Amino acid sequence: MASPVHLTFLGGLGEIGRNCAAIEIEGSILLIDCGLMFPDDDMLGIDLVLPDFSWLIEHGDDVVGCVVTHGHEDHIGALSYLLREIEFPIFGTELSLGLARGRIEEAGLLKSTDLVAVGDNERRMIGPFDVEFIPATHSVPQGIAIAIHTPQGTILHTGDFKIDLTPVDRRLTNLSRVGALAEGDGIRLLLADSTNADQAGHSRSETSVGGVLYNLMHEQKGRRVITAGFASHVHRVQQLADAAIEFGRVIAPLGRSMQRNITMARELGLLRIPDTSLIDIEDVDRYEPGQVLVLSTGSQGEPMSALTLLASNENKWLKLTPDDTVILSSHPIPGNESAITKVIDNLFRQGAEVIHSGIADVHATGHAKAEELKLYHSLARPEYFVPVHGEYHHLVAHSRIATTMGTPASNVLIAEDGDRLRLDDDGLTKVGRVPADYVYVHGTVGDVGSTVLGERQILAGDGVVVVTLCVDRKNSRIVSGPSITTRGWIDEAEAADLLTKMGNRVTERVNEELASSAELKSIERAVRRAAGSFVSQSTRRRPMIVPIILES
Ligand SMILES: [Zn+2]
Ligand SMILES: [Zn+2]
Repeated sequence: MASPVHLTFLGGLGEIGRNCAAIEIEGSILLIDCGLMFPDDDMLGIDLVLPDFSWLIEHGDDVVGCVVTHGHEDHIGALSYLLREIEFPIFGTELSLGLARGRIEEAGLLKSTDLVAVGDNERRMIGPFDVEFIPATHSVPQGIAIAIHTPQGTILHTGDFKIDLTPVDRRLTNLSRVGALAEGDGIRLLLADSTNADQAGHSRSETSVGGVLYNLMHEQKGRRVITAGFASHVHRVQQLADAAIEFGRVIAPLGRSMQRNITMARELGLLRIPDTSLIDIEDVDRYEPGQVLVLSTGSQGEPMSALTLLASNENKWLKLTPDDTVILSSHPIPGNESAITKVIDNLFRQGAEVIHSGIADVHATGHAKAEELKLYHSLARPEYFVPVHGEYHHLVAHSRIATTMGTPASNVLIAEDGDRLRLDDDGLTKVGRVPADYVYVHGTVGDVGSTVLGERQILAGDGVVVVTLCVDRKNSRIVSGPSITTRGWIDEAEAADLLTKMGNRVTERVNEELASSAELKSIERAVRRAAGSFVSQSTRRRPMIVPIILES
């Protein structure tokens, strides 16, 4: 009987973000990706959401490395947090490592971390793992799928991918290798990107966006053009730069990550922009509007991004005028729609013209749609299938594609964050769970627990009522108070009457407690209940009640 393989999913199955999977053979663990998630609107004050690493940290000595499939934050953004707890080498293509390096350096962990560059179609041992890196097209260059040759057969993880037959760098998804793996010993288990599983048809090629951008640049003759998109989307940057140069424009990168990534991609030979065509954003006003393209970050409405600041006329380097056209060369990530709409409104307020993906085909997705997934399944013909990288409905849609394409329904398993699977001679089964809650980060250090987040939601929704009083328990009397202050619940000046009534109610209850020589804790509870029920009866709101009981 061959050794079993265990797979533990710490994130990415049930949300788009914080992708992280652990594969285990004979007591060693290999991680695939280690990403973060950006918070939803209701996660107040939260900067980032991480996977729960407690299970991994417990098994820290067993981790032999992490392979990153590509350089997007939802795949690399949590590395710097996990590396604070355990040490391990990171394997990935040059650009993926280049994009991961920044945060690791900021955390002061670069010296203690090995970053190991791997080449296309390379195969190498990482501990007991026999790993192959297979090229894949996506919305960042140098993406890879990962084949792990295990005692239980080949496990193929697609990474994020689309099947772009005319990518900007002509580096195709290596479908023939996928086919060869299937033809050889077969693919025992496929784990594949589900992001667009519920979208019919085939994604557009990235090069088709190039033509649209070229035409737009032509139409915008005489006007300054400002584009917003992901700084890691090097191929989009290339196509924008090509179109700009064609029409005699110079290129000014705006935003720190755009400047940094352009420098890095040029150094790696992934981006071709001649020195003579690049200018500093400080020099932008020396050029006529029609001679400039500004490449900005911030297409997702992020509060402090270059585009958002530009829209609110707070950008240090650039002021919008009616001579400007802003092109949002991107698509909103679910959850960001309202922030982006606000930015678009503000861009119009500044007098600029705005073109977005609803108006022109200025964006193509980086994720395979249904027909591409069918093609992939038809080549891979896996014995077992687990959809990854998606919200639950994406995972369901992808599982249906798998069964349509011939994987028996009994061999398709929908797993969620925290699920632990076992692949052995008898097949694939769920064998347990590990902690996998959202871990919230606010500021540079420290986790924000779900209790804190719950409190913030109450504060934001209904405000807070603080009831302070001083008691003398020996003589069973209230020495002073209750004094009541509120924030965000009701206007205090208008509510004088309500506050007096609430104070009386609290006094009554506290006197009862004091008569039965109560503990401070139970006085506190009595205050919370008396104030809470009064507030909810009189205003139908549920602010946070904070009792502060002092003893004289
Ligand atoms: Zn991606
Ligand atoms: Zn992703």
